[in-house]
Order: sequence, then structure tokens, then C-alpha cells
Amino acid sequence: MATIAFIGLGNMGRPMALNLVKAGHVLRVFDLNPAAVAALVAVGAVAAATPGEAVDGAEIAVSMLPAGLQVREVYTGAGGVFDRLPAGGLCIDCSTIDVASARDVGNEAAKRGLRFVDAPVSGGTAGAEAGTLTFMVGGPESAFSAAKPILEAMGKTIVHAGGAGNGQAAKICNNMVLGISMIAVSEAFAMAEKLGLDAQTLFDISSKSSGQCWAMTSYCPAPGPVPTAPANRGYAPGFAAAMMLKDLDLAEKAAESVGAATPLGHLAAQLYRDYCAQGDGGKDFSGIIQMLAKGA
Ligand code: NAD
Repeated sequence: MATIAFIGLGNMGRPMALNLVKAGHVLRVFDLNPAAVAALVAVGAVAAATPGEAVDGAEIAVSMLPAGLQVREVYTGAGGVFDRLPAGGLCIDCSTIDVASARDVGNEAAKRGLRFVDAPVSGGTAGAEAGTLTFMVGGPESAFSAAKPILEAMGKTIVHAGGAGNGQAAKICNNMVLGISMIAVSEAFAMAEKLGLDAQTLFDISSKSSGQCWAMTSYCPAPGPVPTAPANRGYAPGFAAAMMLKDLDLAEKAAESVGAATPLGHLAAQLYRDYCAQGDGGKDFSGIIQMLAKGA
């Protein structure tokens, strides 16, 4: 069992850290929010006052932070993780951040003789609690092999996506598909209702036809057909629309940086921006059907 510094104990980080404790690891934890730290101390973790202090005596650092800015600060800031982790130490950043930040931080780690992987997740808070997350991992093969047993305590599917930043690339490409397909399914179900075709009937047909996709069959935005979907609980998240907008913005930034054409990704970002601007950023991202159902 390892001594692990865990930094960022929010909606995702807290249950992930709990699963590492359950697996028998010793945790040294840091978060800007003292209540988040206290929740982990209650199950035996040791509180640290800074990211650097969390790393003292640890051979591994795991983080689950909001965005690239915080990841750069925690790892490469003065007195941060890279300054305090011994050579050969392993860093696993599970946050969803921009590809460029992930590559910069990964390259900086390599310069300092440290191993770093970007390992964003899919599966949401339910997956984090159940320990069934999917990890998409970017970084050198040796760092991936070292990270895998740690990630297995928090997830079920661990995939090596290639070099530094490729985990983030996989995450934003996947979520761009999801954002676009959720809008497509929402448009179809909203139009069906206006055409006098009820949601269950469209679902029964389309879920067995060529329109079938995850946004429809696992997460249908129209109330009824998928009992576990947020549509049946007033669009309580789930995966908040503001988070989807964040990921679509990251996809746009990445597309621009390499000259990729993503016209539907661009439009999806715009529609989620409109949805969030009307005050619904905290609702599940499938709630966008309510905006689309208002009609042209
Ligand atoms: P959150 O806001 O609940 O948690 C972030 C935590 O980081 C907070 O506790 C905050 O206090 C802490 N923090 C912020 N800056 C810090 C710093 N400089 N040092 C230490 N702690 C700091 O967010 P979350 O929902 O846990 O999401 C975390 C990451 O996971 C994001 O990148 C998000 O995109 C990604 N993600 C979230 C979900 C989801 O369903 N919530 C799913 C997949 C991926």
C-alpha cells in the first residue's frame, strides 16, 4: 500500500479519495475548502495545509481540480507538488483540463525526473462513488503502468490513450460527441411531440433503428422512456450543463489549436452557452430539451 497525496476533494475527488482509503492506502489530503478536508480526515486521512505539505512522505500525488489553471498552480507553483515530490515520484491528474496545460505540466514533470499522467474520467459522481469510473490516460508507458493499480481502486476501465495530453484529447472528443448527440436527440423528441408522436413510441422505434445512441437509450432527455434519466427528476444533475459547456469550450480550443473543423461542436457550444445564460447551468445537460422545445 502507498502513501498518496490527494488534492481536490470536491464532488468527484471526495468519493475517489474515499475509495483509495477503502483500498488500504494512506492518504494525505489538501483542498482549499476546510470542510472537504475534514470529511476525509474523519475516515483516517491526514490533513495538509498546502499541496506541497500533502506530498511530504508520499510517493504518489493524485488530483481532481476544476481546470488547467489550478492544475498548473498545484503541480508547478512555488512549493507545489513538483518542488516536493522525490525524483521518480508519480503524479496522476484526473481533472478535465485543456490539452495544452496537460502537455505543459507533463513535460515539466519529465524535465524534473518525475512521472506524470493526465487521467480524466467518465462516469460522473455515481461512477466515482461506486468505483466504476473509466480513466483515459495520457503519458509515458512506464507512468501508465505505475498509475494503473492506483486507478483500479477508483475505476473499472483504464485505457492508455497515448502520450502526454492524449487522455484529455480522448475526453473532449468523447464529450463533444455527447454534447452534439444530446442536442440531436432533444431536437427529435421535441419535434416528435409537436408532430403528435409520443416520446415512448419514438423511443421504442428509434432505440432499435439507426438513430440509436447513448444520449437516447441511457439518458433520454424526454421524461418517461429511461426511468433512471435526469428527465424524470426535474433535470437534477447528473452532469451539469455548465460542465458540458466547459468541455465543449475545451474541445473548441483544442480544435482551433490544430485547425480541426468542428462546425457541429461549435454550434453545440453556442446552444449550451445560451442554455446556461438563461440560468440553467446547474441543471442536467439533458435539460437543454426544455429550451429547444420552446420552438423556433
Ligand atoms: P468540484 O468543484 O466539486 O471540486 C473541485 C475541488 O477542488 C473543490 O473542492 C475545490 O475547493 C478544490 N480546489 C479548487 N482549487 C484548488 C486548489 N488550487 N487547490 C486545492 N483544491 C482546490 O468539481 P468536481 O465536480 O469534483 O470536478 C472536478 C473535475 O472533474 C473537473 O475538472 C470536472 O470537469 C471533472 N469531471 C467532473 C464530473 C462530474 O460529474 N462532476 C465528471 C467527469 C469529470
